[in-house]
Amino acid sequence: MDEIIPGLFLGPWETAFEVEELDRMGVTHVLSAMRVPMLKLPERFKNLQLHILDSPKFDILSYFPQCIAFIDEGMKSGGKVLVHCQAGISRSASVVAAYLIATRRITPETALELIRKSRPCIQPNFGFRKQLDTWHQTECIVSVDDKVTRLHYIEKTVRISKAGGGVHIRKDMLATVPNHRPSGNRIRCKMCRRELATKDHMFPHGSSSSAHTVAEPAAETLAPVDDAAIITDTAIDPVAITPAPPRDAPLISPECSGYFLEPLDWMRSFLDEGLVEGKIICPNPKCSSKLGSYAWAGVKCACGEWVTPGFCIHRSKVDEMR
Ligand SMILES: [Zn+2]
Ligand SMILES: [Zn+2]
Repeated sequence: MDEIIPGLFLGPWETAFEVEELDRMGVTHVLSAMRVPMLKLPERFKNLQLHILDSPKFDILSYFPQCIAFIDEGMKSGGKVLVHCQAGISRSASVVAAYLIATRRITPETALELIRKSRPCIQPNFGFRKQLDTWHQTECIVSVDDKVTRLHYIEKTVRISKAGGGVHIRKDMLATVPNHRPSGNRIRCKMCRRELATKDHMFPHGSSSSAHTVAEPAAETLAPVDDAAIITDTAIDPVAITPAPPRDAPLISPECSGYFLEPLDWMRSFLDEGLVEGKIICPNPKCSSKLGSYAWAGVKCACGEWVTPGFCIHRSKVDEMR
C-alpha cells in the first residue's frame, strides 16, 4: 500500500487483510471500494464496504459523497485511512482522486498526478475518469438541483440509448417542476395552465449558441476504447449538450419550432415506457394535451439544428410567463 498524502493510503485488496501492517502504519479506517465478504477486521477498525464495480458504465459518482465523508471522518479523528479495491488501480484510485478534488479544490488531472507520484500504476477506467470531471464541475455536489449533475445522467442515458442499450433513466435525477425555487421565465400548458418548465430546464440553441449542438444524429465516431467489453457506454463519443443561455436571452428564437427541454420528472408517465421516442403529453390527467414529441437520439428543430436529446414542446401549445 502507498501513502498518497499523509494519513491516506491506497492499495490492492490484500492490504486490507494485513492487520499487523495496518496497525504498524496507524490505519484506523478501511474503505473497501468493492465487496469483500471474507474481510472481518478487528473491532478497532472501521470498515466501509461499497459494492462498486470496475465498469466504465458503473455510477461511481453517486458513491463519492459517502466515500468522502468516511475518509474525512478517519482523517479528522486523528486516524489514518486505507482505500482499497481489487488491484488498487481504478476504483480506489477514483475514490482517492474524488477526495483530493473535494478537499484540495484541484482538478482531476492534478489529483491523479498527485496519486501517481506515490502509486504510478493507477488508471481509473474511462467512465470513472469522466465522472471525476463531472464531480469537479459540480464542485463536488451530486444533486438533482444541480444542472451539471442532471446533464451528466441525461448524457449517459443518450449514449446508452444511441448504442442500442435501451433507455435507462436515473429517475431521482429528473428535475421536478414546479418547485419552490424562484424560477423567472417559464412555460405552462395553454389548455390547463400546468407549469411545465423554467428557463433552467431548457436546451437553448440557434444563433446564440450553435457551438455545442450536435450537428447530425448519425455523426457518431468511435472513441478510444478503454474497455472493449462494455461497448454500450464507452464506444460512442460523449454527446454534446447545449449549455444554458445568458440570463436575459429570450426563451426561444422566432425561427425555432418549440421549447427544447431536458427530461423532467413529470414526463415519467411516458418515459417509464422506456421508448426511444414518442409524444409529450401534459402531466395534468384532466388535460393530457399533446404538447410535443421527444427522441432520445435528437430532434431537428425548424431552425435547422439538432438538439440532443430532443424533447420539444411545440410553441403553440404553451404560454410563456415572465
Ligand atoms: Zn395541460
Ligand atoms: Zn431551433
